Parts: sequence; structure tokens; C-alpha cells
Amino acid sequence: MAQINDEQLKEIIVIGAGVVGLTTALRIQEKGGYRVTIVAETFPTDPKSIRYTSHWAGAHHVSHATDERQRKMDQETFKVLWELSAPGRDTENLFVRHQQTEYRGDDLSSADWLEFMPDFKYLPENELIVGSRLAYSFSTITMNTPVYLNWLLARFLAQNGSIVRGSLQHIGQVIEGGASIFTDGKALRPVDAVVACVGLGARTLGGIEDKDVYPIRGQTVLLKAPWVRFGRTMTAADGTYTYTMPRSDGTMLVGGTRVPNDWYPLPRPEITEDILARALALTPELAPPHTRENHATTVNDLLPIVIEPGCGLRPGRKGGIRLEAEWFDGPKGRKVPVVFNYGHAGYGFLSSWGSASMALEILEGVLSGNGAPPAKAVAENASTIGTPGN
Ligand SMILES: Cc1cc2nc3c(=O)[nH]c(=O)nc-3n(C[C@H](O)[C@H](O)[C@H](O)COP(=O)(O)OP(=O)(O)OC[C@H]3O[C@@H](n4cnc5c(N)ncnc54)[C@H](O)[C@@H]3O)c2cc1C
Repeated sequence: MAQINDEQLKEIIVIGAGVVGLTTALRIQEKGGYRVTIVAETFPTDPKSIRYTSHWAGAHHVSHATDERQRKMDQETFKVLWELSAPGRDTENLFVRHQQTEYRGDDLSSADWLEFMPDFKYLPENELIVGSRLAYSFSTITMNTPVYLNWLLARFLAQNGSIVRGSLQHIGQVIEGGASIFTDGKALRPVDAVVACVGLGARTLGGIEDKDVYPIRGQTVLLKAPWVRFGRTMTAADGTYTYTMPRSDGTMLVGGTRVPNDWYPLPRPEITEDILARALALTPELAPPHTRENHATTVNDLLPIVIEPGCGLRPGRKGGIRLEAEWFDGPKGRKVPVVFNYGHAGYGFLSSWGSASMALEILEGVLSGNGAPPAKAVAENASTIGTPGN
């Protein structure tokens, strides 16, 4: 790339420091030609909060893509994460590479969207478990999400990225004043573009107020179980979804629930108990080895290894992820593009790098456009339906 002096850098504000905002900021920063500032109310270094979904995710890479655009995003992301998790890489320990087995009791005859995964195979009928009609396995990764998020933030900061804490009421606030509205009010340079990665915040943030965005509540339990290093899921005939995911620090995240429009911010004790019972039925190996030697294990055997129950609100969106740009009125009659990248429901980690690439493509398209700005620039093959994901 030709050397660009400081004055020529385009000023980009990314709103949001969840997995989507951090990954998008990195993609833009690493393209070159941009100075990127992340403005957010919550960062990965903060304590876990219901207002920040990314801390609560598993997160394994198990795609649920129903359309071409989503498949493309998920596959690109898998490639990046698989490389980062390669044995010997300094990032290896952010991940566990493991065998994943999925049991389906619902009405599914194939899982063709997952056939690209390494070691993918359908299991023979004699390996089905009670309640399943189809099963398949493959190799994938699970991230240790709190650590992975902090690694993303550290990588962004180490490359001269800036972060500013602030809670926006309206997107117009940063369009006019940039990140300086939360510091001294003296913007050094006008903002060239804003990228909104605000997750569930898109429902209420002024200037976006997207009523297609809604919470899909998910409850989990974190266990200490370093003796289990594989993942399983079970989708029951009634849609109940149970998973057990191994993390690199010897913990296991087990779940789950997927309840649309449930905003309750704390784990419900009766659901914690139900999750433990379902997780133990799916993965009896969760019980500490000594308890399995002399009796039939029960949920009581898991209680000593419980670290904490958890609960997060996935940013669901009717229509799937919003990836498009609109032009807003800026200061002194200028038009400023805003690129949207939100609504990742239960697949924000597993589609993060792919959706960040699409957001970058849209950004470069609108910034290089000559003449009158188009009203909207939309990613190709936009989804018409959304899936809840993990
Ligand atoms: C239980 C559970 C399990 C999951 N498992 C998986 C999995 O296995 N794999 C997977 O890929 N995904 C999984 N997910 C989904 C994943 O967690 C989400 O898709 C992802 O975290 C969404 O990230 P985000 O950056 O869009 O939102 P968030 O992480 O919520 O970040 C939003 C950011 O925007 C900021 N913001 C919002 N509004 C404003 C405002 N007005 N002013 C300033 N800042 C603002 C917030 O402060 C925050 O920094 C799971 C989710 C849950 C709850």
C-alpha cells in the first residue's frame, strides 16, 4: 500500500465494542487508510452486564445459515478462526479445537450447510441417542469469549486504535461531533463515516430505532470440567436446544434457552436446574470422574463444579443481520454515511469476520462514490429470514 500521511486518513467512528464492533473496527483499521475510534457504553474489560451480549456467548462455531449471504459470512469467519486456533500459534489458547456431535430430533433430513466443516460425517443409525432421528459430527472450535474479546480489543489498541466510553442517545451526536462529544467537545477532524455495531441497542438508539430488533434470551451455566474436551448439541422434537461447549481454560459452558422477547436480566433458578439436567443427559461425562465410578450420576454431582449461571440477550432481527448504508445530514450541509452491522442473533461470533468484511465493502463503496449519494447501499444476497442461531 502507498504511504498515506496522517492528514489523508479517513476518520471512522465505530459504535459498539461487542464482538461485532471490535471485529469490524479491526477489519477497517487493517485495510489501511482509516483512523478508527470505537465509541461504546460497555467494553470487554467491564464486568459482565445484560447490556453487553458478547460476554455471555459460548461460543462455538456451529453455523445455522439458511441463506447464501449468511453461509458466506460463516464460512469466511470459520477460516479465520481455524487459522487463529492452529497448534503453535500464539492465539491457540483462545480456542479449543474439538469434535462436535449434533443430534437432531426435529424434522431435518440433512445438514448440508455444515458439510464444509473439517471431518464432517453423518452418523449411522446405531449411534443415534434417545429422541434423535439424525446425527452428524465434524471438527470445529469453541472460543473462550471473555478472553477472545479482550484479545480483539488489545489487537485494535496495539495498532493505534482509539476507544472512548460513552452512551449515545442519537446517532447524530457522533455524526456531528465524533468521539469528542464524550471528551472535550473539540473534534479535530470531521467524521467521514459512522459504522453502527450496536447489537440490541439498535432497537432504541435515536436515528436507528429498528423495531425489527428484539431480544432472544439465553440462559447458561458455566462449569469447571477440564476432563471433557468435546462438544455436543441436541435439538429435540419440540425445539428445545441443549449444548455443552468446552473452553480453553478447562470450563464448559452448558445451555440453553432461546426465548424471544423475554427481557428478564437474571438467571432463573428453575431454568438453571433444567439446563443442568438436560446437559447431564446429553453429556454424562460432565459429572466428575470419581462420581461416575460407583453410582448413577444426578444433577447433584454437578453442583460442586458449578462456577456461575448466566443469562444474555441475543440481538435477534427479523430479516437477519442488517448490512447496508444510509446517508445522514452532517454539520455544514455535509452528508455522512452510516453503515449498519447489527442483528446477529445467536451467531455473532461465528459470523463476525465475514460480516465485518461485508461492512468494510459497503463502507468503501459509499466513501468512493462520486456525485449524489445513493439513499441506501445494501450487501448482495441479503437475507429475508432470520434464524435464532446458537
Ligand atoms: C447464551 C448465549 C449463547 C450464545 N452462543 C453463541 C455461539 O455459540 N456462537 C455465536 O456465534 N454466537 C453466540 N451467541 C450470540 C452472540 O453472543 C451475539 O450474536 C453477539 O454477542 C452480538 O454481538 P454484538 O457486538 O452485536 O452485541 P453486544 O455484544 O451486545 O455489543 C453491543 C455494543 O454496542 C454498544 N452500544 C449499544 N447501544 C449503544 C449506545 N446507545 N451508545 C453507545 N454504545 C452502545 C454496547 O455498549 C456494546 O459495546 C450467544 C448468545 C447468548 C446470549
